[in-house]
Amino acid sequence: MNSRLIRSWVQGANAADCPFPLNNLPCGVFAADQGGPRCGVAIGDCVLDVAGLEKAGLLSLPGAPLLDVPFWNAVMGAGPAVWAALRARLTALLAEGSADQAVVEPFLVPLSGVELRLPFVVREYTDFYSGRHHAANVGRMFRGAENALPPNWLHIPIGYNGRASSVVVSGTPVRRPWGQVKGPDHAVPSFQPSRRFDFELEVGAVIGTPSVHGQPVTVAEADAMIFGFVLLNDWSARDIQAWEYQPLGPFQAKATATTISPWIVMKAALEPFRVPAPPREVPLLPYLHEPHPMLYDIALEVGLRPEGGAETVIARTNYREMYYSAPQQLAHHTSSGCAMNTGDLLGSGTISGPARDSRGSLLELSWGGDDPVAITGATRTFIEDNDTITLRGQCRGPGYTIGFGDCTGKVIPALADPYARQGT
Ligand code: CA
Repeated sequence: MNSRLIRSWVQGANAADCPFPLNNLPCGVFAADQGGPRCGVAIGDCVLDVAGLEKAGLLSLPGAPLLDVPFWNAVMGAGPAVWAALRARLTALLAEGSADQAVVEPFLVPLSGVELRLPFVVREYTDFYSGRHHAANVGRMFRGAENALPPNWLHIPIGYNGRASSVVVSGTPVRRPWGQVKGPDHAVPSFQPSRRFDFELEVGAVIGTPSVHGQPVTVAEADAMIFGFVLLNDWSARDIQAWEYQPLGPFQAKATATTISPWIVMKAALEPFRVPAPPREVPLLPYLHEPHPMLYDIALEVGLRPEGGAETVIARTNYREMYYSAPQQLAHHTSSGCAMNTGDLLGSGTISGPARDSRGSLLELSWGGDDPVAITGATRTFIEDNDTITLRGQCRGPGYTIGFGDCTGKVIPALADPYARQGT
């Protein structure tokens, strides 16, 4: 790795543990006291009002205006040359010694005073199942050690089409869902609040430039289409999933909510942290070959905080544990001719490492509920009401950190009776 901290004149941006140094420049949408939601970039302890900068003529991107809307989709769809121009201009404005400091300063808003919104309009959402350890753990629990990995798993980045409407920004409460469940000892299903509600630690890839319907893309082309990455919690009702998932995969179990972190970390900020995929256990078909490393060294952790209590970090792992990269997933997604669009979101699949405390879901951490997880003053098998789950991610460079911002959500109690108006 040959990158170094790019020093900035903005307060806090040069601290080694600041998540938002000038090297990062992640894209978000914020609302402050003055004015409605608009595009901003995190730097140090502040968010830079880039929509305001564009309006004031201080930021002129090819194809502008691109920032006069409260989402990043216009920039994302404009392609890599515009992304590079954006970063180059912001770096010039914010770098230590910049002649523009005085004119840029009025566009900085303290992060402590803003509300963060979804950073982009999620066009469609696909969730993959590309974590080797997660797939093996879940398979072992449900099908036994002999059949842990499905026969296709080492050949295909398996996925399912989720719902864009279920994607919410960090901080949004998540209501425990009701659903159909059927235990092995019951003859018929019942409809009840989920008792095995869970998180899934994932990283989401955000698609920038679209592909053409009918034209599969290569892995290299797919890599170039990706604008950036977010942390992603794919909330999952395990009891609903167990009953509904065969033969078409998860449906309502995964439709309650998917929480993403508020900042899109652009691919350029992650370049110094590229790492190769783990060794292939069987050769992949040529259309899935990676021409260069496409995973990233992103340290990840999950915190669980009960209402009124202290947080316990219950899992630590790394994005480099993935078996398939986002460009491989994206290339596979288009292999049928399926078109991908600006604003599509691809979930990596749950990221578990080999160790017990590196498992990215409570299903795995508590081994199906049999082995409770210790938290401060209590234990957990699955999420209880009013627990707050927080995902964090960071890359450590020499003297600087690339952070994603917390991806957090509190699970609030299920509705008392969702169909009360129907009568009995
Ligand atoms: Ca998932």
